[in-house]
Amino acid sequence: QTTIGFTGAELANLMNEAALLAAKRDKALIGMNDIEDAFLKVLTGPQKKSMKRNPKELRKTAYHEAGHAIVAHVLPTMDPVQQISIIPSGNALGYTLNPPKEDRYSVYKNELKEKISMLLGGRAAEELIFGDISGGASNDIQRATDLAKKMVTLYGMSDALGMMAPAAVQHQYLEGNAYLDCSQETSAQVDQAVQKILKNCYADACRMLTENRALLDEISEFLLVKETITGDELMAFVNADKKSEAPAETEETAEE
Ligand code: ZN
Repeated sequence: QTTIGFTGAELANLMNEAALLAAKRDKALIGMNDIEDAFLKVLTGPQKKSMKRNPKELRKTAYHEAGHAIVAHVLPTMDPVQQISIIPSGNALGYTLNPPKEDRYSVYKNELKEKISMLLGGRAAEELIFGDISGGASNDIQRATDLAKKMVTLYGMSDALGMMAPAAVQHQYLEGNAYLDCSQETSAQVDQAVQKILKNCYADACRMLTENRALLDEISEFLLVKETITGDELMAFVNADKKSEAPAETEETAEE
């Protein structure tokens, strides 16, 4: 379930990492926990548990990751969150994992917009809670911008440019880079359309977090204590939140 979308080479790499971990742990066989740890390493880079961070930084990271997770949870096309952590790994200070439930071959406009909102959810949480933003979200912002650019320049998904694809792709079958192939005027329109998508998706993320502020606080506090939350634990918070919000049940009166 967790390796949906992996290629054969990626699976081989995962098992190789798991074998290394099992050997380090003096085991004769690879166990499920070795595979799970290897999965995280392959996806996010090795964990840096010894990295020292101050309480302010940790709080910022907790809210940032909880922001991603809540936006992912609220949006209908996003895959369920499997794990959230504020343990640094690779170049990231934390991570939110929501691996795809099934293989995907097409991209859809709504899904792309929701993915952008999810990517911007971390930055939105920082702004909402601290009134300030960190550079820690730069990778999120690059990825969001990249998706918005593709929507406008390759997939014909912007209102302003419609079905026109102002970008061309070199060596399409070698995953070549797209480059703009249009007039200066159109190029300015592309910038505007990309900005508009990012702005709208960011506003959506901010709204979702404002509407789920209690949940955002709860998950962030929990992360600060436990460092990692599983998808099930997240759902327990979501369900508890729903219960407390539900209007008190009126007693049924027996009429017969
Ligand atoms: Zn982030």
